[in-house]
Amino acid sequence: MIEKLAIIASLVAIAFLFLKVIRLRSSKREYEAQLKASQQRFQRELIQAKDERDLLLDALGDAFLIVDSRANILFANSAAQRLFRGRVLTGRPVREAFLDPRLAEALLLCLETGEPVRSRVVLPQQTSPLGDLETRGNNAWIIDAAQLCDTLGGNPNTRVVIRDATSEYQLDQIRKDFVANASHELRTPLAIINGYLENLLDDGMIEDTEIAKRFLTVMKKHTERISRIVEDMLVISRLESGEASAIKIEPFKLRLCVKDVLERLESVVRSQQADVFMHLQDDEVTLQGDRFYWTQVLFNLVENALKQNPYKDLKIVVGSSESGDNVLIWVKDNGIGIPSADLPHIFRRFYRVEKHHSQLDVKGTGLGLSIVKRAVEAHHGTISVTSVPGIETKFLMTIPKSPF
Ligand code: ADP
Repeated sequence: MIEKLAIIASLVAIAFLFLKVIRLRSSKREYEAQLKASQQRFQRELIQAKDERDLLLDALGDAFLIVDSRANILFANSAAQRLFRGRVLTGRPVREAFLDPRLAEALLLCLETGEPVRSRVVLPQQTSPLGDLETRGNNAWIIDAAQLCDTLGGNPNTRVVIRDATSEYQLDQIRKDFVANASHELRTPLAIINGYLENLLDDGMIEDTEIAKRFLTVMKKHTERISRIVEDMLVISRLESGEASAIKIEPFKLRLCVKDVLERLESVVRSQQADVFMHLQDDEVTLQGDRFYWTQVLFNLVENALKQNPYKDLKIVVGSSESGDNVLIWVKDNGIGIPSADLPHIFRRFYRVEKHHSQLDVKGTGLGLSIVKRAVEAHHGTISVTSVPGIETKFLMTIPKSPF
């Protein structure tokens, strides 16, 4: 009996053990399945987080790179890829990946010192990323490098942002050139006036009324020139201010504007025996904008045609036609024209065609076409110029009928 009980007890113990093994096996399987699911979820979350990071860094717009402590690129966003024209960046040392060693200088300094470094690099178009061999001038880049904090205590990575600062750089350059050119343009008449004043006062020429009168006449001419330059600079600055109040918006008839201009220039036209024609497709064509600036635009263009061609047989046409939602306005002449090499620069401030002007004979301020361009653009229009010397020089403006 005891034996039987012992056998039963053993059997129960074995069954119990068996059950436990089965349960253990199943919980191991469950555990493994759970582990696998967690791993998969973790992987998915990791990929999602990486995708979100990439999206965020791509949305930056500026080139963004992460570099390890040995200057190898670990990550480059899509702006960085674009900047380096799709070259492989990740996994490469910066010295090798960046096209110009000057671009890597700030980053290398940051890696060396551990301090944040921000610098501006100005590169000629030819050697600049995104530059090209055809274009003159420079590109400017702001390089901003700083170490990322390292929570794990290893060697920290460094982030680099490369921002295209070319337009700011060019604006800055234009401003500097403007100040230099304006000073130069003003200095010449001022020096002349000063010279005559010295003659009159220090050399006693004031006693000779004949000479004094002649000198004063020259001085008056140069004073007028100074005030014309200042006037023109003020007009440009008003137009460039972008203030809404700089432009008055009201409907006006183009015909009346042209008539105004022709009346103001009538004596010059007559003395040069030039022919000026008004060819408006529609006599009643109405523009929206500032009549004052439009009169100045047409005045400058017609006056230029007269100024550059002070001889007979000059024919000037002021015309207009409609094209869809735009009004086309042009001023053309059959004069000496503009050499093709000068055409791309003709709207720049103080730019004059050298061939047209000797040092002694400075007819204008060199600001007339700058004013024209800015006034046209302030009315959301565009202006272009074509020139076949002796045949046709044409300034063509395209203006939306309802620009505001
Ligand atoms: P400026 O005050 O010297 O006339 P602008 O800016 O009006 O300055 O013109 C710049 C230069 O462009 C002029 O100096 C002249 O050499 C040239 N130019 C402008 N219009 C004409 C034209 N119709 N024919 C020939 N040259 C022109």
